[in-house]
Amino acid sequence: MKKANIIVDPSKCRICLQCQIFCSLLHEGEANPSKANLTIEKGAITFLETCRENCSFCADYCAYQALKPK
Ligand code: SF4
Ligand code: SF4
Repeated sequence: MKKANIIVDPSKCRICLQCQIFCSLLHEGEANPSKANLTIEKGAITFLETCRENCSFCADYCAYQALKPK
């Protein structure tokens, strides 16, 4: 699993998918959760190998503090 520079607390995740939407919009030019560099499942948030260095954009858009920049 890729280690992002983000503090993760899956227990706070509401599966709103805003993190995936903004990640894919910024990095892939398309608001498409399936193209995001992280996966969201109940009880698990996983950063993929394609996750960018020095990025915490998704954490900026998590309204529930499940993702927070370090
Ligand atoms: S850290 Fe950046 S590249 Fe990685 S999942 Fe978040 S927005 Fe996407
Ligand atoms: S933005 Fe936060 S609450 Fe919403 S799916 Fe992503 S990690 Fe979960």
